[in-house]
Amino acid sequence: MLSVIVPCFNEEEAVKLFYPELRKHLRKFVSRYEIIFIDDGSKDKTVEECLKLKKEDKNIKIISFSRNFGKEAAILAGLRESIGDYVVIMDADLQDPPALLEEMYNYVESGEYDCAGTYRVTRKGEPPIRSFFARMFYKLINKMIDVEIVDGARDYRLMSRNMVNAILSLPEYNRFSKGIFSWVGFKTKYIEYENVERVAGETKWSFWKLFAYAIDGIVDFTIAPLRIATVSGLIVSLFGFIYMLYIVIKALTIGDPVAGYPSMIAIICLLGGIQLIVIGIVGEYLGKTYMESKARPKYIIKEIK
Ligand code: UDP
Ligand code: MG
Repeated sequence: MLSVIVPCFNEEEAVKLFYPELRKHLRKFVSRYEIIFIDDGSKDKTVEECLKLKKEDKNIKIISFSRNFGKEAAILAGLRESIGDYVVIMDADLQDPPALLEEMYNYVESGEYDCAGTYRVTRKGEPPIRSFFARMFYKLINKMIDVEIVDGARDYRLMSRNMVNAILSLPEYNRFSKGIFSWVGFKTKYIEYENVERVAGETKWSFWKLFAYAIDGIVDFTIAPLRIATVSGLIVSLFGFIYMLYIVIKALTIGDPVAGYPSMIAIICLLGGIQLIVIGIVGEYLGKTYMESKARPKYIIKEIK
């Protein structure tokens, strides 16, 4: 049995187009399936549209959150609710082509792989500045963390039950799925495809949301920035010490006519800046620890239909 998890946030237009397309492809290779729509606090008619689909297809399940908790929470809810031997996560906007499903399924079903993931080789239709920052992000995060995150990797992936159980065994509150999928390991086959633009509605990601997402990804998966803070502190202190020796020796030998106001201000500003950045980095981790320590549920389910 195959479980299809579909996080939806204001996708009334998209789900109507998504379901027939998915169904068409599913029919080719599985007989038993379930489709779990997770309504992530949509304000439009997403739930009504899903309910209409459910009338035709009893294999549909709809989980409604009490408000918008974000895609990561929706993915988690879907994974917990799924009962299939294989589980696939897909966007509702048809940016994850259902045509790839059969190939992905075959890789995992044959037992050769535990997971079939996808990544986009092009970023057609995306603002160039966003693509540029996205590329930079993948380069940076892969230098910093132990596990690899493929450039352009999507959340669109099909997994075995074993892998899903491994993912569910991670209890953290701050969930960066792209990292978690790699962190749990297992043999993954990556399939590439050309970017597809969404069929209806609009993207939920602004530039700043993506920026925050990138910072979260790094902070959730490595403490390297804390080490950068320590190392830059050490380097600055070393220079400070050498400069201090220089000043003292100069004062003792040539005397010290009071001057050097510009250099003093420059140093104060530079050090002040470095200190604030370092406090900020420490703050990021402290904030994460604070959120984890509250151990709040990651989402609240309003109803399951
Ligand atoms: N999504 C969600 N909750 C959110 C934001 C997005 O469940 O808070 C869903 C959305 O409905 C879609 C998928 O996550 O099915 C991907 O979102 P989107 O297409 O906006 O992202 P993009 O494809 O632009 O990265
Ligand atoms: Mg999309």
